[in-house]
Order: sequence, then structure tokens, then C-alpha cells
Amino acid sequence: MNLFPIFANLAGRRALIVGGGAVAERKAALLLSAGAQLDVVAVEVTPLFDKWIAAGKARRCAEAFDEQQLDGCWLAIAATDDRALNARVAAAASARRIFVNVVDDPPLCTFQVPSIVDRSPLMIAVSTGGAAPMLARLARERIETLFDHSWGTLASLLERARSRIRTRFERIADRRRFYERVLRGEITSLLRQQRQAEAEAALDRTLAEDRAVSNPESPIPNPGSVTLVGAGPGDPGLITLNALRALNEADVILHDRLVSADVLDLARRDAERIDVGKIVGKHHTPQAQINELMLAEARKGKRVVRVKGGDAFIFGRGGEEIEFLRAHGIAYSIVPGITAAIACAAYAGIPLTHRDHAQSVHFATAHRRRSEGDVDALTAHGETLAVYMGVAEAAPLRDRLLADGWPADTPFAIVENGTRPEQRVVVGTLAELVERVQANDVHAPALLILGAVAALAAQNHWFAAMPVDR
Ligand code: SAH
Repeated sequence: MNLFPIFANLAGRRALIVGGGAVAERKAALLLSAGAQLDVVAVEVTPLFDKWIAAGKARRCAEAFDEQQLDGCWLAIAATDDRALNARVAAAASARRIFVNVVDDPPLCTFQVPSIVDRSPLMIAVSTGGAAPMLARLARERIETLFDHSWGTLASLLERARSRIRTRFERIADRRRFYERVLRGEITSLLRQQRQAEAEAALDRTLAEDRAVSNPESPIPNPGSVTLVGAGPGDPGLITLNALRALNEADVILHDRLVSADVLDLARRDAERIDVGKIVGKHHTPQAQINELMLAEARKGKRVVRVKGGDAFIFGRGGEEIEFLRAHGIAYSIVPGITAAIACAAYAGIPLTHRDHAQSVHFATAHRRRSEGDVDALTAHGETLAVYMGVAEAAPLRDRLLADGWPADTPFAIVENGTRPEQRVVVGTLAELVERVQANDVHAPALLILGAVAALAAQNHWFAAMPVDR
């Protein structure tokens, strides 16, 4: 170990900072958030320093550095752009056995400031001992995604309950089991859902009831839950941090055909994966079958993640699924995803609204439940129309739009396999829609964008193959 990690309690303790510029300001902000009393030595200070000084948080002790300023300090930071001055500060501090950090000069430092993930009171600090600060930064970014902000609230909650937990579970092994349950269970979910009071009540309940924790023979089952995750259109870079976390924590993943393999690769290795698209085969499985599967897994106490392409609430049956879960008393949460229209438009360079061309955008589907006819009632024009599941229905769709008064020369763009490496964009006018689909053998998944903005695909092209206009 080349550096010994410590977490210093600086509350109410003096720290000296030499320098009053932007770099010094960043360090000072950290020291202040730890409750240190700051002495600042600088010829000039930033406006933020001035504010801190006015608020009594910091004290400007002099313009020039003098060794005596170090007396009574617990640590010092040299953050000027004068290397010789920095070196003097370092030497004087070291002579007094005061830990000193010199910004950007590791050999002069007796302590380093780590990259941190602050979920106070949970604090994660990362260091490479100066070997590769960039690597520490990357590690920090990864950790940042793994620990969402609810960890801070959780840590505070557990801090308040700490003595009760210790009394309740005397053996370390029991405490560990208890903490593991808390981490996996409803308390964590409630905190994530910003339902603090309910989380506290759940903790109280667990502490009061949880007799079985000390008895491995009869563990209290974890209540299972379902997270509905929108996985976006395919490019794994388009999933959200919350989606990534849900995939990392899943016990069971139910996904359908539209969810790309690249996205599923991000999921926890030992999560069980069920391709409900496959069970479905060519025809749609009755939604009921998927619902029953979700229910059965959740009732086993599993963390079920139901992953859908795009967003679960845009032509994704998410609404039906949560109604079902609610009816069966299963806890759920929802992670939105980037829906195909948003993603395909962006990757084809088509702004869905545009001050010159389109004041509104309409998301529609070319088919509804069979009994309700083949095409939606699509009326308004002068807007952008994004049609999901439209390719197979190109002919009736075109007829209907023409009948509704859409001009035959309205530009369209079809984005096939949007955001994926094999993305294709086919453009033309409404009159040519059906022949272009056929000539280019367009297949699902493909999204149709109709309206003046569709013509911008040719000039705005930036991703994958050039648009095809034949
Ligand atoms: N919930 C999904 C939509 C499901 S409906 C979402 O929010 O995106 C399925 C339709 O979505 C497909 O027929 C197609 O029209 C569209 N779609 C989904 N992913 C797509 C992709 N990568 N490229 C083009 N269209 C896509």
C-alpha cells in the first residue's frame, strides 16, 4: 500500500489554504463541506471566497504566506500557481508534521485528496496513489452509477436506528443478515421512490417483527418486486443509469424481442433471463401469460426486471402490466426509456419539432387491437407524425392519410433498426411510401416519420448509412 486511506474529522478544526483562485476554491469547498474552519492566504480571492468570508465560514488571514500561519492548523493546502511558494508551504508544513497537499505536485504532498462519491453519510473515496489520476476518475464514475443517491438517505436512516439494530441483533452474523435484507428489500425501494416516511415505518416494522432473522431455518421471505424498465431502442449507450442499476440488481429478467443483446449484456451475469418474445413465438403470447410469469417470480421473493424496448408506456403495454401488479399487491417501480420515435429521429437527424416546419408531434400506431380496425384515426396535418409498427401496414396507412387530406408530396422517412449499427433510413414522399418500402425490403423494427421535418434527414445525416431516396 503506497498511501494509507483515512477519513479525517475536520469539523471545527482549522485548515490553511494558500491560494485564492479557482483551484483553491474547489479544495476550499470540500474542506468547508466537512465543517473545517478555513484560513485563506492569498493576494486575491474569487467572489465565492468573498462570500464564504462574509458568511464567517472562512477567514482571510493575510496576503502573504508566513510559516506562523500554520500554527494550530490540522492540515494545509497549497494551491497557488507559484511553484516555489507551494514548495515553501509544503516544507514548512512538513517540518511541523502538518499534513499538506500541493495541488498538481504529488512529490510535495504528504496527503492526497481522493476522487469521491459523496452519498453522505456514506462516502466512497478512490485513489491510485497518484499513479493515474484519470483512472481514479473513471473508477469514480463507475461507482457513481452503482450507488444512487438513495444510499445516502439509507445510511442516515440506518445511522439513526443503529443502536436499536444492535440491541435487536446482538450477534454480528444476525446483523449482517438483517442489513442484507434491508439492502435487498422494500426499504431501499421506498427510499428510491422518495417515500421516506414509509421507509422509516418499514424499518420499524422489520425491527419489531423480524424474529426469524436470527433463525436461518425459517427466514422471513423478502417481498418480491417488479421494475418495469424501458431499455431504449437498441444502442446500449441510450439506457439510463437507473435502468443499468436495475439490470445489475435483477434476479430475473423478462425481456422481449426488441431489447437488444448489447443491452442485455449489461445485466448481472447470474440473473435468470427469460425471453418472453420467444415464448410468444410468431404470434403474440397472450399478455396474461407474461403477467402470470411476472407474478410467480415476484411471489418467490425475486427482484424481477421486466425490460421492454424503448419506453414501457409508449405502445409497450406498461400500463396493463402495472394494473395487473397493483391488483395482485406486487410492489413496482418504473424506469422510463428513450422511445423509438425520439431515438430514431435523433439518429436520422430529424428534429421532430422545428420552429419553421412542425409545431407539434403525434405518436401513433398503425394497428390497434384487431377488433378496432387496422389504422388509427390520424387526422391533423401540419404536424409531425411518428408511426410505430407501421411498415407492414404501409398501404392502408398511405390510403388513410391521403383520404384524411395529407398532401401526396408530404416527406416521409422510415428508420429501420434505428440506433443500431445496421440502421437504414429510407426517404421519399407519401405518394411513394409503399413502393419505397417494397423496393428497399424494409423490415421491422422500423419507424415512420411523416411531415416536413422528414426531408431534413438527407442534409442532417450523421449516423450509419446514408439515407436512401430510391
Ligand atoms: N415501447 C416501444 C415501442 C414498441 S412498439 C418504444 O417506446 O419504442 C414496436 C415498434 O416500435 C416497432 O414496430 C417500431 O415501429 C418501433 N421501434 C422500436 N424499436 C425500434 C428501432 N430500434 N428502430 C426503429 N423502430 C423501432
